[in-house]
Amino acid sequence: MLNLDEIILHPPTVFAVPPVLAQKRKLLPFTLLDNKVLVATSHKDESIEHVLRKYFNNPIEQIICDEQKLREKIQECYGPLLEQNRQGEDQAGSLALTNEIIHAANLCKASDIHIDPHDTETIIRFRINGQLELYKSLSKKIHSSLVSRYKIISGMDISEKRSPQDGKYLHLLPSGQKVDIRVASIPSKSGEKLTMRIMGHSIGHLNIESLGLEAKHVTKLKSVLRQNYGLVMVSGATGSGKTTSLYTLMKYLINQADYNIITIEDPVEYEVEDIVQVEVENNEKLTFASALRSVLRHDPDVIMVGEIRDVETAQIAIRASMTGHLVLSTVHANSASAIITRLQDMGIEPYLLAATLKISISQTLVKKICPSCKKKVDIASVKLPQSLVKEFNDTPIYEGHGCEKCAGTGTSGRMAIFELLHVDDYWMNEIGHRSTETEMAAKMRARGIPSVREDALAKVKQGLIPWTELNKFI
Ligand SMILES: [Zn+2]
Repeated sequence: MLNLDEIILHPPTVFAVPPVLAQKRKLLPFTLLDNKVLVATSHKDESIEHVLRKYFNNPIEQIICDEQKLREKIQECYGPLLEQNRQGEDQAGSLALTNEIIHAANLCKASDIHIDPHDTETIIRFRINGQLELYKSLSKKIHSSLVSRYKIISGMDISEKRSPQDGKYLHLLPSGQKVDIRVASIPSKSGEKLTMRIMGHSIGHLNIESLGLEAKHVTKLKSVLRQNYGLVMVSGATGSGKTTSLYTLMKYLINQADYNIITIEDPVEYEVEDIVQVEVENNEKLTFASALRSVLRHDPDVIMVGEIRDVETAQIAIRASMTGHLVLSTVHANSASAIITRLQDMGIEPYLLAATLKISISQTLVKKICPSCKKKVDIASVKLPQSLVKEFNDTPIYEGHGCEKCAGTGTSGRMAIFELLHVDDYWMNEIGHRSTETEMAAKMRARGIPSVREDALAKVKQGLIPWTELNKFI
């Protein structure tokens, strides 16, 4: 029997049927697998296939699941849209469509929504787990009313179609949760393109033990955080999960004691009640440096600075971390050692950095193998690059073969992989003597501190991530 808690919803399949039909017939088309539409039902019913033929060109396969769970899942997927229809909304109306798009994107945990005009159609795509996926292709006729609707609610000028604009609004979900939506428009040759970012996610699911760090690193990290002073830096490319890692560390602190935690961000990505979040986005009056200076007058225990981009912010952050504050931040750099040289290049004195930096982390996100369809594979059938062959001489390789829970992809969600440098006396000395990035990296490898690539390789060997993710590091 299918466990509905474990499935990954495929929004184009879920919302291809009218909500009222799904509720009335108690069915949930939830994904495509091997070109078939999988439909969750509580008992097999031949007439379902007949009913659904109108909405899908693909063959239909019914999968039995628990009746009560199915009712809850149908309510979660379609309830908000049914509620909206009861309130007199026309399903074809732009308001109904704007709500449906946000609801569907939120349901599948999309980070961004793209609405792109083409010659005859409007393509709506979601970014889910870092990848763009088609949600719907609609007639171009609806494009201008859909775009105008989002522009009105996000405070943009709808008469201005030739210049890029940006705006934002708070979307209230039926659950009562508020989602902060950032909207940006840009003129393209086929019309206005809209990109929307969904902000304000809750930190409820974040957990320091589930970050993907080795247990000994988690222990070190916790002891550093409990010291309540010093600097913890995270680096990684855009979309590498840096902010999520910092929020995970803050959540650990929130659970430890009643700290005064203040964040300065551009923009605020998570919604947390117990902390003060200051936003510096598009705000020339409030820069990271000026906000940080003001925040220090509010007696903080912990300060999270979204990003250190300039010497002024770096200097204030270092000073704060020397005077009894714990400062968490990110910087653009591609390794734990590069964080150190980046801050030094900005003009931070090595001895100050050595005295304040406690942990330097570099991270990136990789796909996880779906646990439901994970299988050991014959190494001969895998086209491993020559450089990796010797690594798997006596280690099995695992792959996800694709199942109803992972929409046939073989992967399910993402996890972070890390390079973590805990700055002890040895490394304080190295930093203080201005070691170069290459020298530091070589010494880290010599002392057994794995690089991001080595951490990824270890996780492939543990059967957590597919070997193909290693291609990112070749
Ligand atoms: Zn699977």
